[in-house]
Amino acid sequence: MLEKQTELDRRIHQIRSEFELLSPFSAGYPVNQEFDYSDLYPLLGYCGNNVGDPFAHSRYQSNTHETEREVVRAIAEMVRLPADEAWGYVTTGGTEGNMYGIYVGREMLRDPIAYFSQDTHYSVLKILHVLNVRNIMIRSQENGEMDYDDLRESIFINRDKPPLIVANIGTTMKGAVDDLDKIRGILSELALPRSYIHADAALSGMILPFVDDPQPFGFDSGIDSIAISGHKLIGSPLPCGVVVTKRDYTAQIGRAIEYVGALDTTLLGSRNAFTPVIIWYSLTKNGRDGFRRIVAKMLDTAEYAVRQFNANGIPAWRGKNSATIVFPRPSPYVLFQWQLAPFGDIAHLITMPHVTREMVDNIIADCLEWPPGTNER
Ligand SMILES: *Cc1c(COP(=O)(O)O)cnc(C)c1O
Repeated sequence: MLEKQTELDRRIHQIRSEFELLSPFSAGYPVNQEFDYSDLYPLLGYCGNNVGDPFAHSRYQSNTHETEREVVRAIAEMVRLPADEAWGYVTTGGTEGNMYGIYVGREMLRDPIAYFSQDTHYSVLKILHVLNVRNIMIRSQENGEMDYDDLRESIFINRDKPPLIVANIGTTMKGAVDDLDKIRGILSELALPRSYIHADAALSGMILPFVDDPQPFGFDSGIDSIAISGHKLIGSPLPCGVVVTKRDYTAQIGRAIEYVGALDTTLLGSRNAFTPVIIWYSLTKNGRDGFRRIVAKMLDTAEYAVRQFNANGIPAWRGKNSATIVFPRPSPYVLFQWQLAPFGDIAHLITMPHVTREMVDNIIADCLEWPPGTNER
């Protein structure tokens, strides 16, 4: 018995110290590590389950549907959809949110063609395969934004099919925001009777609502659904996300999902009852002012990082309202040491709230000490 306990303790201790060691060197992934959910730990003593539609009655009573609805409404308002017109739920992450948005789009349009740019997250192509949606990849510009001429031309050639556009509100690699005004302009210029825009806003969906001069990002700019990750800027130790669409749409596609039961509007069956509480806790505790401060600090550190990289002869840049700093791919040591994400000949660091100016200085110092070409295998 005692030996068993020692074995359990040892493993937990081992995992914990690995995590503890790594977190001060995490600068490449868009996860906010600044949180404390210890108030919520007692809830882990129960078998919560959010199975079913959070807006409908559920037979399983140990759920957090009410909290989940509050999360959906709060996020809806942030992305400029009146709360009473919104429907959505807390997902397992950005990928499930994208899948749900694209699914709603497919059901609304019937037999659409999906358009997405080269810089789109890999989950989107996978989802289009799974949902069997015809699709066309659009060229990207150098800054990571969609090439709008290529989009116009591709839609024009295929204008017998309604377009389902997956717009990036912050690409994974370069933090680029596709211009919703331009996309809508193209759709109206081509006089297409039906179209649908899903916004993949995994990270920037929590940045743009809190800056003074945001690019168009919300329902007021013509999107039909949006997916935001919970474990990115909101800060959740468990992967999760939120998808928001219009209540009308879910009602219209109701028939398509009737076969699994009238109230079964979510993609998954049993769903996490704990993650909606985590998101609610973060939104409530930080409040809008809190997120404004968090975002301002991130963007300030990002600006500092670009300045310092450039001052040290490393050509780094970032897009407007982006905390993602793109620079030439550093040596394997630097990538490994700071958990930076490389893609071809570039890499990025993201100044999430736990990334300090001091960390930025240390990363630059390492880049200078171990320039590209050193310690290659
Ligand atoms: C992270 C990310 C996703 C996927 O989110 P998961 O939560 O990992 O499923 C989708 N799109 C973009 C742009 C992302 O950055």
